[in-house]
Amino acid sequence: MRAQGARKGLPAIVFLGRNGLLYAIQVARVQSPAQAGIPDGPFFWPRPMSCNLLARGRDNVSRTPFLAGNWKMYKTGPEAVAFIEAFKPLVGNLSGREAALGVPATAIFQAAQAAAGTGILIGAQNIWYEKEGAYTGEISAAMAKAAGAGFVIIGHSERRQYYGETDEWVNKKLKAAAAEGLVPVVCVGESLAERESGSTFKVLESQLRGALDGITPEIAKPLVIAYEPVWAIGTGKTATAAQAQEAHAFLRGVLAKALGTQSADAIRILYGGSVKPDNAKALLSEADIDGALVGGAALKPDSFAQIVNFDK
Ligand code: PEP
Repeated sequence: MRAQGARKGLPAIVFLGRNGLLYAIQVARVQSPAQAGIPDGPFFWPRPMSCNLLARGRDNVSRTPFLAGNWKMYKTGPEAVAFIEAFKPLVGNLSGREAALGVPATAIFQAAQAAAGTGILIGAQNIWYEKEGAYTGEISAAMAKAAGAGFVIIGHSERRQYYGETDEWVNKKLKAAAAEGLVPVVCVGESLAERESGSTFKVLESQLRGALDGITPEIAKPLVIAYEPVWAIGTGKTATAAQAQEAHAFLRGVLAKALGTQSADAIRILYGGSVKPDNAKALLSEADIDGALVGGAALKPDSFAQIVNFDK
């Protein structure tokens, strides 16, 4: 078991709370935020440094790392098949992790056929929440599923930015996906202006609470959240592991308030924003980072395989 928030290599005092939860306190002497791996700046500093981590964990929680690619508007069906054929031998039997590819709607069927029997999950990048109707250009959750999708990305910042996706739509799409048995991967994240104005947590809480409106712990069972700071998507600027961890821990707290601690402990929270083979391991070493949503680096079999094999 690895406690949430725990740092490797630091001694810990562990005790069992009266509520049945295991608590660990780690104490580190540090002289600067940088030394503690915490970026300087008003958003992160000052904060208590003498006791820099209060970790809490449950014995029965396991969040299998989920590594998902988001191909955006790249690759035809045949190109998707060629990718998967090259990718398969690079990731082997995927033990201890799940790999997923969010492909264009036109490639779902062929990609799913190529990935059959490998454990690689194929998904859609968007759905509309109605079952059917006069919605030109849209696809429903059932259509994505029938084509071979096992998951769907919902509320990606590009959809929020270019297509007016609202929290209300995200909520309805989440419900439609869950009702159809698709794993919903719901994206939240702040813009640079929001981060700089100190409203990151407010934005994250409002997006996540909006997505979860009317969602029960039962509906939320397959749910995956992706924290994607907008300023880090496709820009080459990655949030530091400490920045991402802080946002993930905050999101887990919002999940706990909305759905209870059991659900919050079980739901995987992915980080997305310029994840590359050389930064995946550091990000995924953080206690609340349970995987990655990867754009650019998921377009080449070799670089995405290195991310999937982040710990090897
Ligand atoms: C994304 O598309 O969700 C994404 C995180 O892109 P990139 O990895 O290219 O920043």
